[in-house]
Amino acid sequence: MGNGASADESPNTIRVQATPTPRDNRTQNPRDSRTQNGGPPERSRRKGGGFQEVEIQETPRQGKSQNSVRQGQQGQSSEGRSQRQGQAGGSTQRQGQAPGGSTPRQSNQRGGREDIIFETFYHKSGKEFQCMYLDGMRFYLDDWGSKEWQPFPKRWYNEGLLITNSVVKDQENENRRRQQQQQQSQQSSGAGASGGRQQQPGYQQQSSSGQDDREGVLNHPKRGRIPTYIFQRKHNIHCFYDHTQGQWMRLPIGWELHHEMVGKLVDQVEEALPTWGDRQDILALLRQCNYDPDECMSTYLHLEGDPWLKAPKTHKEAKAAEEKDETIEQLRQQLKEAEESLKQEKIARVEAEKVVKDQEEKITELEVENKQHEAQLMSLQQNRPKTAMQRPKTPQVVTQVVKEETVNPDDIVLLNNTAKELRKAQVHLKMEVQRYFDVLRGQITKAKDGVKNIKSTSSGSMEEMEEIRALYRKEAMQRKLLYNQLQELRGNIRVFCRARRDDRVSCCLKFPTDSDIVAMDNNGQKKMFSFDKVYEPNSTQEQIFGDTKAIISSCVDGYNVCLMAYGQTGSGKTFTMMGPENNPGINIRAMKELFDVCKERVDTVSYTLKVSLIEIYNETIQDLLTSDAKSLDLRTAGNKVSIPNLKEVVIKNLDDIKKTMAQGDKNRTVASTKMNSTSSRSHLLLMLSVEGQDKVTGAITKGTLTLCDLAGSERISKTEAEGQRLVEAAAINKSLSALGQVFTALRTSQLHIPYRNSKLTQILQPSLGGDAKACLFVNVSPDVNNFSETVSTLNFGSNAKQIALGQAKQNIRKGP
Ligand code: ADP
Ligand code: MG
Repeated sequence: MGNGASADESPNTIRVQATPTPRDNRTQNPRDSRTQNGGPPERSRRKGGGFQEVEIQETPRQGKSQNSVRQGQQGQSSEGRSQRQGQAGGSTQRQGQAPGGSTPRQSNQRGGREDIIFETFYHKSGKEFQCMYLDGMRFYLDDWGSKEWQPFPKRWYNEGLLITNSVVKDQENENRRRQQQQQQSQQSSGAGASGGRQQQPGYQQQSSSGQDDREGVLNHPKRGRIPTYIFQRKHNIHCFYDHTQGQWMRLPIGWELHHEMVGKLVDQVEEALPTWGDRQDILALLRQCNYDPDECMSTYLHLEGDPWLKAPKTHKEAKAAEEKDETIEQLRQQLKEAEESLKQEKIARVEAEKVVKDQEEKITELEVENKQHEAQLMSLQQNRPKTAMQRPKTPQVVTQVVKEETVNPDDIVLLNNTAKELRKAQVHLKMEVQRYFDVLRGQITKAKDGVKNIKSTSSGSMEEMEEIRALYRKEAMQRKLLYNQLQELRGNIRVFCRARRDDRVSCCLKFPTDSDIVAMDNNGQKKMFSFDKVYEPNSTQEQIFGDTKAIISSCVDGYNVCLMAYGQTGSGKTFTMMGPENNPGINIRAMKELFDVCKERVDTVSYTLKVSLIEIYNETIQDLLTSDAKSLDLRTAGNKVSIPNLKEVVIKNLDDIKKTMAQGDKNRTVASTKMNSTSSRSHLLLMLSVEGQDKVTGAITKGTLTLCDLAGSERISKTEAEGQRLVEAAAINKSLSALGQVFTALRTSQLHIPYRNSKLTQILQPSLGGDAKACLFVNVSPDVNNFSETVSTLNFGSNAKQIALGQAKQNIRKGP
């Protein structure tokens, strides 16, 4: 689809009348009619992944305010709400009432907070229109003619493409309204009749018992009983136009895989998760995740390893992984078996040792006994008179001899025999013990060998595993290094995320690593995002500046550098960029750093630093360094952008910086009072140019540093949609959407980058183009009540993350 903002008829200034006059607000709800009639599908390029959700209910809201601006709009009477509900879908009461002209009272009468959908319509003629969907009616800003909001012509649905830029939905109110509508229509067409069911996107089915039959339970083998609920969301539906049927039809998955952009999304997921081989499966989940690859990947990773989700592994890696798993399993089994046999052998050895010990004890006992017997025998043999000569002659001795002669010779023979037998038994026993020992020794040697073998096998597999682990660590480190180098070479937009510190609220953020952030709502729904770096709430201004210092100081070498802070109001953008006086943010620190670098090189290069400060409010540029409130023009030639008459102040020291910033601050306050705006509704750009002339060669380098505190990215609600607030919202929406579109176009390497869609992107063009270095800070609040805005901000950051800018170039020219 061509971009309507051609150079010659660029609708750069959006002028919205405070009292537009929609002439026909009986216009049907175009979304509903489009869905039924097969009109063109809505999509948005605002968030990551090309296709974006039209509207999505992240979680049922708690009915709390999303930001400070919305506070005070809460707690409006339910009476008002039901009044509105009763009128929904075709009320003629507000005929002729302007979307921007309703008074606060009128808004309040409409009841609780409702939301506005901002859209861009690309007409086939090449023209582009800002649109707004409010109270079931769609309007467009007639930039090409009357410059007023006009009702959106019905025939246009077939003449172009509507893209939702930002959506604000109070889903609870919306559902309640639809439910009531549903009940009313059922009543009028006979309740309960099946033909009475409206198959429209907002359809809510309720069981006759009054219980919500979309509630259910799933019995999971590992997780047990899991409560389930069929949430009602709206998704992007990718359709094709069937000429034979004359209508839009849903693209089959098989066809959609051949679609260039969808194919790229699938490639992206496939590349990140190589074990997930099935492209159709990936696409199916991508469809579920509204074509957001980040969400698709995080869903998959969250449930990875689930038995029900075992994806068929068709890839080589999957096979190799499987084989490795098998080998490890086998080794484990072997180890187990070896351990078991070792245990058995140990037991056998202990038993054998016990037996040996017993035997040894027995032998010792027998030996002792044997010795005693021998001693007895010896003494008997010694004491026996061998000849008559030896016999004693004295009567006393005779008596003794007579006594000795009373020993029975049979006894002696018996004893002799016993001793012989004992000796025999002892020899036999010794032999037995010897034999037993030999067997035992053999067994122990065998067991020892076995243990040795087992040990060497297991240590072999351990070593292998350790080697693999070391290799993996090395690979991962190398990959990270290469990735950083690649980023350096590509000059990617670096995206940092900073969560602000807020001790008063319950934190809905988690920081698993220093580059991941998880946002969690009250129902435990989690979303994970990755950035180049994530700063936790207690991070300091020094840390933040420390990581951007290198990029910032490269502007001294002639690079164009740009730092932006994006996020909802109150998320800490100004704190990060400007910071309080006693704890300054990036702005002041950057200027100080540039001074220091210039000072270091004073011998070889002479530098001039100039600063200018502008504010972009409602697509008009205001110079904050002059007190006259004249708005400035933009001049573009190629990728060169200039702002004629913009005041540049030469700064030479820290005092100059402080004075200049104070003057800018004062003028901003005056300007905002004059225009009745708040600082969060405008973009603040601090632009520093550093021109250096080499004292030897005369070469001149010129680098610029643009520090950008963007307007609050929060979406506004219907109740806030009046007069100036609506115009502001349209302008912010236009410029931030344009910034998102530029990011998307850069990321998908489109030939045409739509810089001209807003003043902001035009000014930032030299810093976002091919030869610059850019850094985006996405600032988020930890408050759980801001969950939906936080997710939206993180999505915006994710979208910017994958942009390749092309190698950064120095701006050097020869001196005069
Ligand atoms: P934004 O510019 O996004 O609207 P601010 O920078 O004005 O938000 O921050 C809102 C409030 O929160 C300010 O009072 C600011 O001092 C405070 N704040 C923001 N970030 C931090 C932080 N990291 N640490 C402490 N206070 C912070
Ligand atoms: Mg601010």
